[in-house]
Amino acid sequence: MLAHFTRFHEAVIRDVADLNETKRTAVLTRLLSLVMMVYLLCQVALLYFYGSPVLAVLPFIVFIAFAVTVYLSYRKNTEFVRRMCMACLYVWIIVLVPLVGWSSTGAQNFLFVMLLFAFMTSYDNLNKKIRIPVILFLTRIVLFVWAYYRGPYVEIKSGGETYFQITNSAALFVIMTFLVIYFSQHALEMEKKLIAHNRQIEAEAEHDALTGLFNRRAIHEHISKEIAGMNKNHKGMCIAIGDLDEFKLINDMYGHDAGDMVLKKISEIFETFMKGNGYVARWGGEEFIFVFTRNHKEVCAEKLEMLRKTIMLSEMEYGEHEIKVTMTFGLEEYQMGENIDEVLIKADRKLYQGKTSGRNQVVS
Ligand code: GH3
Ligand code: MG
Ligand code: MG
Repeated sequence: MLAHFTRFHEAVIRDVADLNETKRTAVLTRLLSLVMMVYLLCQVALLYFYGSPVLAVLPFIVFIAFAVTVYLSYRKNTEFVRRMCMACLYVWIIVLVPLVGWSSTGAQNFLFVMLLFAFMTSYDNLNKKIRIPVILFLTRIVLFVWAYYRGPYVEIKSGGETYFQITNSAALFVIMTFLVIYFSQHALEMEKKLIAHNRQIEAEAEHDALTGLFNRRAIHEHISKEIAGMNKNHKGMCIAIGDLDEFKLINDMYGHDAGDMVLKKISEIFETFMKGNGYVARWGGEEFIFVFTRNHKEVCAEKLEMLRKTIMLSEMEYGEHEIKVTMTFGLEEYQMGENIDEVLIKADRKLYQGKTSGRNQVVS
C-alpha cells in the first residue's frame, strides 16, 4: 500500500523531460487534473441519478480531457498542458452552470481555483496576468445573469443538490490545499537552493581551487579588516611571503600532477600551522602569504622557523617517490599607518634576499 502510494507520489512530482521547462507548472497541473478526475467521476454518477443520463456524458468527456492532460504533462511542453488544463476547467464551468443552474452544483466556484492556478503557473508579467481575474470575474457575472434569467435546462432531482455541493466543496478544498502546499514547499526549496548556491559561489570566489586556501583577493580583504580594527593595544601584525624552493625541478622530475599534489599537501600543513595564528593564502603559483594577527616579529620568526623545519622534514608520497621540498620566507611587521602594499614589498624583498643567499631560510 505504502509502496503504491510512494510510486504514485513520485509519478506526480516527476520532473519534466526538458531542462528548460518548469517542474512546478507540470506538478501543479497534474495535481489539479487528478483531483478533478476523481471529482468528475462522482459527477458522472450524480448527474446520471439526479440529473439525466445524457448529461452524465459531459463530466465523462471532461474526465477524459483531464486524463489526457496528465498524460501529456510527461511529454508535451508545460505551457501547452497548463493551457489545456485551464481550458478543461473553464469548459466544465461554462457548460454545467447554464445547464443545471447556479445554486444546484456550485460549479462556478471552480473559477477561484482557475484564478489560483493561473497565478501560480503563469510566468507572464503582471499586466498580462491581470487579464485573468478580469475574464474570470466577467464569466462569473455572465453565468449568474444567464442562470438567473434563463433558469436551468435540467432540474436536479430533489436530494441531489446536497451531494453536488458536498463533492464540489470537497474538490475545491482539496485542490486549493494541494496547490498551496506544493507551491509554498517548492518556493521554500528553491529559496534554500538559491542560498546554498550563493554560499558556494561566495566560497569559490574566496578560495583557491587547487589548495582550498584563501586566494589573493580574500586575503587582501582580511588584511584590510585587521588593519581597520587595529588600535594602540594591538599585539602586532606580521606578514610573511613564502616560496617553495626550486619547485620547477619537482614538476620537471615528477610531472605537473606531482607538483599539484605537493601544493595541496603543503597547504594542509600551512592550515594546521596557522590555526590560532592568523590566515594563510595562496598568493599565486608556489608562493603563499601568512598573516600573523597577534604577534610581533620575533615571535613570528620563531614560529616560521618551526614551520620551515616541519616542511623540510616532511616526505610527500607520490607513487613510489618520496618528494621532499624546502621553502624560503620573507617576514615583515606591519607598522601603524602603513599601506598594505608597502609591507608586502618589504616582505618580498626579504624573500628575494633569502633566495639569493642559499634558500631554505626565514629572513626577518
Ligand atoms: P625558486 O627557488 O627560485 O623559487 O625556484 P622555483 O623553481 O620555485 O621558481 P620558478 O619561478 O622558476 O618556478 C616556479 C614553478 O612553479 C614553475 C611553475 O610551473 C610551478 N608552478 C606554479 N604554479 C603551479 C601549479 O599550480 N602547479 C604546479 N604543478 N606547478 C606550479
Ligand atoms: Mg619557487
Ligand atoms: Mg615563485
